[in-house]
Amino acid sequence: MRQRRGNLARSTIVAASSRSKQRVDSTLKLADQLRNDPAKSERLEACLCKACYYFTQMGGAAMTNRECAGCGKDEIYNSTATDALCLDCAKAHSLCKRCGGDRDMRTRRDTWPDMSETSSD
Ligand SMILES: [Zn+2]
Ligand SMILES: [Zn+2]
Repeated sequence: MRQRRGNLARSTIVAASSRSKQRVDSTLKLADQLRNDPAKSERLEACLCKACYYFTQMGGAAMTNRECAGCGKDEIYNSTATDALCLDCAKAHSLCKRCGGDRDMRTRRDTWPDMSETSSD
């Protein structure tokens, strides 16, 4: 494979520099949000972990149905970016609605919900 020669026109250099700066700035801003959790009350209200709340979520534009991993209730989403749980199950077990992990990203908890039992009724 061979790629085309780039160019060193001033406008190309400026554009590349600007893109790099934007990437760094937005990553630092994200890091800041993850560290300081500025929207904590909204985030907890939505039952999301920091990663799911602050990272941008990609999804295709298509109405999508997905059953809640906990109670099996059919949930409707307006994109393909769906959540693992319904709000009730996420709240009840202090889990992240979107990824289904612990809402505070704890990997050690005293009690773990056993969702597979609740879904087989
Ligand atoms: Zn549920
Ligand atoms: Zn999450």
